[in-house]
Amino acid sequence: MSRKLMGFNANQLVRLVATLALVGMVWYFVSNNGDMSIPSQGRIRESTNVVSSDEKKSVDSKMKHIEDNTIMPLMEDQEAKVELGRASWKYFHTLLARFPDKPTKAEREKLSTFVQLYAELYPCGECSYHFVKLLDKYPPQTSSRTAAALWGCHVHNIVNDYLKKPEYDCSTILEDYDCGCGDGPVDGGKVTVEKEGRQHG
Ligand SMILES: Cc1cc2nc3c(=O)[nH]c(=O)nc-3n(C[C@H](O)[C@H](O)[C@H](O)COP(=O)(O)OP(=O)(O)OC[C@H]3O[C@@H](n4cnc5c(N)ncnc54)[C@H](O)[C@@H]3O)c2cc1C
Repeated sequence: MSRKLMGFNANQLVRLVATLALVGMVWYFVSNNGDMSIPSQGRIRESTNVVSSDEKKSVDSKMKHIEDNTIMPLMEDQEAKVELGRASWKYFHTLLARFPDKPTKAEREKLSTFVQLYAELYPCGECSYHFVKLLDKYPPQTSSRTAAALWGCHVHNIVNDYLKKPEYDCSTILEDYDCGCGDGPVDGGKVTVEKEGRQHG
């Protein structure tokens, strides 16, 4: 015996409910462009994309500014940047540790000019950009080997800080970069904090 509700029997009611559910699903699917995620998730994803695209624009415009103000191209390969950095610092500190202890005026000028060009022509554009700015603030110290080596250690520490790397202890910089190049240990000996204080005021 079939029971009736609002003029429909049970079978008709089941078919009606199923049809309404199907129409509802199709409408929802079409109105979400085929995305079946729940609306709130869609909104969160959208707003996250907006933030990250703003951030990307700001990074892109910073990099564009750097690119426009450097001779060298940007270096996207991080591994290459790290490898180049290690080799370059080694060269840089070794050079400073072998600079004359009592340089002539001409030698001092040569070192200043060299460091400026070294920065401007450093093969990683963004590193070059930052290093040139750093030199404006901390010009090379050329009065002696010790002054030059300590200055080099100091600017490397500023780059370390910028890259969130630990600070290096500069007190033994001349010993650390004594290349053992067959011409005896570098004279000038151990650089003490006391000496460093005198040199940097
Ligand atoms: C001029 C210059 C500018 C750079 N600018 C950037 C930049 O803007 N962005 C970027 O991503 N990378 C930059 N780099 C590369 C970066 O500094 C590192 O070389 C790279 O990240 C590898 O780091 P590392 O931890 O192996 O040690 P590095 O910093 O390469 O140091 C090599 C070794 O030198 C010794 N050392 C560490 N600190 C000092 C110090 N203060 N004095 C003496 N010796 C020290 C340690 O034994 C260390 O293992 C730059 C490199 C140079 C030479």
